[in-house]
Amino acid sequence: MKAQPIASHFIDGEYVEDTDGTVIESLYPATGEVIARLHAATPAIVEQAIAAAKRAQPEWAAMSPTARGRILKRAADIMRERNRELSELETLDTGKPIQETIVADPTSGADSFEFFGGIAAAGLNGSYIPLGQDFAYTKRVPLGVCVGIGAWNYPQQIACWKGAPALICGNAMVFKPSENTPLGALKIAEILIEAGLPKGLYNVIQGDRTTGPLLVNHPDVAKVSLTGSVPTGRKVAAAAAGSLKHVTMELGGKSPLIVFDDADIDSAIGGAMLGNFYSTGQVCSNGTRVFVQRSIKETFLSRLKARTENMVIGDPMDEATQIGPMVSFDQRQKVMSYIDKGKAEGATLVTGGGIPNHVTGEGYYVQPTVFADVTDEMTIAREEIFGPVMCVLDFDDEAEVIARANGTEFGLSGGVFTSDLTRGHRVADQLEAGTLWINTYNLCPVEIPFGGSKQSGFGRENSLAALEHYSELKTVYVGMGKVEAPY
Ligand code: NAD
Repeated sequence: MKAQPIASHFIDGEYVEDTDGTVIESLYPATGEVIARLHAATPAIVEQAIAAAKRAQPEWAAMSPTARGRILKRAADIMRERNRELSELETLDTGKPIQETIVADPTSGADSFEFFGGIAAAGLNGSYIPLGQDFAYTKRVPLGVCVGIGAWNYPQQIACWKGAPALICGNAMVFKPSENTPLGALKIAEILIEAGLPKGLYNVIQGDRTTGPLLVNHPDVAKVSLTGSVPTGRKVAAAAAGSLKHVTMELGGKSPLIVFDDADIDSAIGGAMLGNFYSTGQVCSNGTRVFVQRSIKETFLSRLKARTENMVIGDPMDEATQIGPMVSFDQRQKVMSYIDKGKAEGATLVTGGGIPNHVTGEGYYVQPTVFADVTDEMTIAREEIFGPVMCVLDFDDEAEVIARANGTEFGLSGGVFTSDLTRGHRVADQLEAGTLWINTYNLCPVEIPFGGSKQSGFGRENSLAALEHYSELKTVYVGMGKVEAPY
């Protein structure tokens, strides 16, 4: 299987190569096979990309929002027409099952182009402020050159979730995908050109943790939006602060999912499984601390065990497959070491906990794993694992579970399953997180704001709220009379 792109980078409307850059091998996670060889951006490539963006941005910003929106909507249509091809590429890039990528990856990116393309005319308006005979007005102006840096779990979605709001606001973007998943973003750049985007406005360059700082520290960059881990977020935010750049930080989590004894138990189990095993557990907002009220613990665990052991693990290109490999060998090692810690610290292994032996080849597979009797102090309850490992914790009452759910440095998401409507809202109100779900989990349509609080980050993606993070207000005060000076 090969997925070699024409060249490593896409700058100023064209594929560009610089073989002086360090080699990045793109491996298919299901087999370990090398499917593409690319080069990390050299400083010259970084300069080229930022210069192209800077050159193209003013003319784009001068276009009407409707004209910009029309191009983004065309890009959405092309993505939907090519959904199968893009989904297969996403599966090759990430190892995620085609069953998922075909419904959740390019389609989610297309939603973003469609939404921001469609709201352009209304969403970017300013306001009129009456001041007696004088008045003021505000206008929403773009920031300039924006940098997007992506994680490896949703490469195409992240490339679009950052690109669409940046472009509709009149900015240009330089996007750097994760070194683990370099392929998808290049296709997004190609499609935008095909949709009519003027060259230079959406550039993709490859690279790793040494390339990111070249972008973040560049004086011509006005904004950085990162999707990544908390430690990376701290470094990027600190670097951006050096030149007072705008930042959006979409970081990690250890989110609570609370199941009360009056919940529809099968829905709660379904929510917990989706919130722990989708994308082989590599989802930032996953509800990895599942608090189950003690009176339903045994029923919950026995049904959860049966459903988990029924999941189909295997070839991600097979539409029946529900669990694919981890993205990389290193990530599997990390997940396995957490599973070992869970066992060593006394959690009860309900199911999984190993490498599935029926999957042949060199793929980075891990069994979907459930631990019960997990306590708040255990490492697996405190640290983000980013793999298919669910921790089930017991609780007795509402006040206790809220305090324990909030006892974390993270604050990305959370969920509550209950049939008591007032309790659902009361608990959601008290959980410290950016996005909460009642009686469902992990749904993130483009219409709703998404982002974290506490150490999970700041800024919001999607919805009208994202426009505020890719633009700023300019205020104009208009004096209508003579200037009365006291001197
Ligand atoms: P990571 O932090 O290792 O890397 C993220 C990106 O940052 C990569 O492109 C990497 O090359 C780049 N990078 C690393 N160091 C950098 C530096 N010093 N300066 C600039 N760029 C740098 O994260 P990952 O392992 O790719 O992804 C997993 C993490 O991402 C998890 O913690 C997960 O929760 C988080 N995540 C968050 C969201 C969200 O929306 N909140 C979504 C997906 C993933």
